Amino acid sequence: MKYLDEYRDPAIARALVEKIRARVTRPWVLMEICGGQTHTLMRYGIDELVAPGVDLVHGPGCPVCVTALETVDKALAIAARPEVTFASYGDMLRVPGSHSDLFRVKAAGGDVRIVYSPMDALKLARAMPDRKVVFFAVGFETTAPANAMAVWQAHREGLTNFSVLVSHVLVPPAIRLLLQSPSNRVQGFIAPGHVCTVVGYREYEELAREFRVPIVVGGFEPLDLLEAILMLVSQLEDGRAEAENQYVRSVAREGNVAARRTMEQVFEVADRKWRGIGEIAQSGYRLRPEFEAHDAEKIFNVAGVSAEEPPECISALVLQGLKKPTDCTAFGERCTPDTPMGAPMVSGEGACAAYYAYRRHERDLVGLH
Ligand code: SF4
Repeated sequence: MKYLDEYRDPAIARALVEKIRARVTRPWVLMEICGGQTHTLMRYGIDELVAPGVDLVHGPGCPVCVTALETVDKALAIAARPEVTFASYGDMLRVPGSHSDLFRVKAAGGDVRIVYSPMDALKLARAMPDRKVVFFAVGFETTAPANAMAVWQAHREGLTNFSVLVSHVLVPPAIRLLLQSPSNRVQGFIAPGHVCTVVGYREYEELAREFRVPIVVGGFEPLDLLEAILMLVSQLEDGRAEAENQYVRSVAREGNVAARRTMEQVFEVADRKWRGIGEIAQSGYRLRPEFEAHDAEKIFNVAGVSAEEPPECISALVLQGLKKPTDCTAFGERCTPDTPMGAPMVSGEGACAAYYAYRRHERDLVGLH
């Protein structure tokens, strides 16, 4: 753990906290986009360390959480079919659809399998030519290159029994929507380092210029996040609004050019519905027409499925940073990781699950306080 320990050094963390406190002259509201960043902030109590000068609100950056309810319902309908082997990351199996989840479909006899990459699903398709293997392709730009590669490979091999149910969402359109909202109170963003590792941060430069909002690409360890907060606070206090890169050990301005090229070959940008938020224009990927033979939505004709969110769940407001999970009346009572009502409580990256894990139990502060 030596490499990671360097990014969790309590003495450096304390020094960064002092610098943030010394820099703040008025309260600022910052949003971390990614659920992984939310978990680090909660786990190490960083949000409490930088308060009240910095109010951290949590963004929509958990891919499981923002997968539209109707997309989950489509997955359930496909997975229940007798000729289908449905492959998914484990997180998605517990995400509740309108009436069921993938675990229950599996318990009822559906062939639902947990895989660790789309290439595992591709192997299943090669090994079982008499089965229709469907991979649940969820995620932000981070997982898109591997999913694109699986489709491209299946297309090249003529694997007609392999398809993907695509639910890819893109971060910049969600930031744009938040900034255009009259109720927005976010003044600076910590952009997700893993997404920017793939796509770079040119688009974030445009957003920073257009909306006069500072954006810092941040990593996932405590020191990454404290440094990103310091960079944002410094910009705000100086009256600057730029896109900066804290996560230099992973992110280049242009991103990963080879990965982007593969994504662009297989996917095209399209409107997409986000769970709890609704449809956002040009905010996701769909397969290009030349790959439609691998489009599960078309193959199984589930495009018309629609669904409504449970009324008590305020995940829409949580995912937009307008409410915290503890503002929800169901939090920790009717909604827990064992009995999730909404996706942010299911996913390991969800904000509600982070609050449940670290705000209801003793935290591991590893000496930061
Ligand atoms: S605590 Fe549960 S019901 Fe409340 S917003 Fe989070 S997921 Fe929805």
